[in-house]
Amino acid sequence: MLSSYQDRVLTCKDCGTQFVFTAGEQEFYASRGLMHAPGRCPSCRSARKARLGSDSQSVGADGGYRRERSQREMHPAVCSNCGKDTLVPFLPRGDKPVYCSACFEQVRSYR
Ligand SMILES: [Zn+2]
Ligand SMILES: [Zn+2]
Repeated sequence: MLSSYQDRVLTCKDCGTQFVFTAGEQEFYASRGLMHAPGRCPSCRSARKARLGSDSQSVGADGGYRRERSQREMHPAVCSNCGKDTLVPFLPRGDKPVYCSACFEQVRSYR
């Protein structure tokens, strides 16, 4: 099925800026069941979203992918077994031994 969407120029109702509601965006909106053209330019929309996002717990359809699963934060630690400097994917606390990866393998294989 051929797309019948065409780029449209809309005026932001917040700041009055003209912005393009592209055919692709229209298709995207329609695919999500949104029949209204956006009333705000992209920058006002994201500003508004950022404002609303801080005190609202609702996760939008496009909010899910922003979860931080890209990279774990690594923390420097000293291996409790061999004393080598190492990095661990959690914050080392004094109450638990921390092992470098080699020692961790060893310790784990004991159990
Ligand atoms: Zn605007
Ligand atoms: Zn070690």
